[in-house]
Amino acid sequence: MRETLEQLLEAIAAQVRVCVDCPLHITRQLAVPGEGPIGAPVAFIGEAPGADEDRQGRPFVGRSGQLLRKSIRDLGWSEDEVFIGNVLKCRPPENRDPLETEIAACRHYLMAQLVLLRPRVVVTLGRFSMNLLIGPNLVMGSAHGQHMLRDGQLYLPTYHPSYILRDNNRLPDFKRDLARAKKLSELPAE
Ligand code: URA
Repeated sequence: MRETLEQLLEAIAAQVRVCVDCPLHITRQLAVPGEGPIGAPVAFIGEAPGADEDRQGRPFVGRSGQLLRKSIRDLGWSEDEVFIGNVLKCRPPENRDPLETEIAACRHYLMAQLVLLRPRVVVTLGRFSMNLLIGPNLVMGSAHGQHMLRDGQLYLPTYHPSYILRDNNRLPDFKRDLARAKKLSELPAE
């Protein structure tokens, strides 16, 4: 049988839900594979699930998720036409930063998801997804809002929404970056 891209994406999600490849599976309640359809014009990639996401098994459903999802809707996208996911699929205890070893164990899920999705633009949220997907030495202050091409995939880094909640002065930059991602996603395919 030849599986469809949808079935392959769901197969990754099913593997993530039972993953025991790193110690985070011991403390998680639910793994959070990410969600969104094949054909999504854009994929938003954050850092790792927090407490709300861990309880619900869905990405960006807590306070920073509300900000992200409202910003997505404000641009005229519907939340379920885009992909929303994370570098780590399980919550680090106390929301500490992801460890190198956890990223190394988990990254293959995200890479496989992006290969199947092939969105027009990948928007990285915060430094962890930016440094993993675009470049290890990029610094947010200078990189945010600049589109970058890597292996034929277009990326646009921006701040993590939880940083925007802590420093509201960055909200206009965040909104401008997302508007730029929307424009890029609408460019005709070459
Ligand atoms: N922060 C993230 O990076 N991802 C989520 O899913 C929620 C909060």
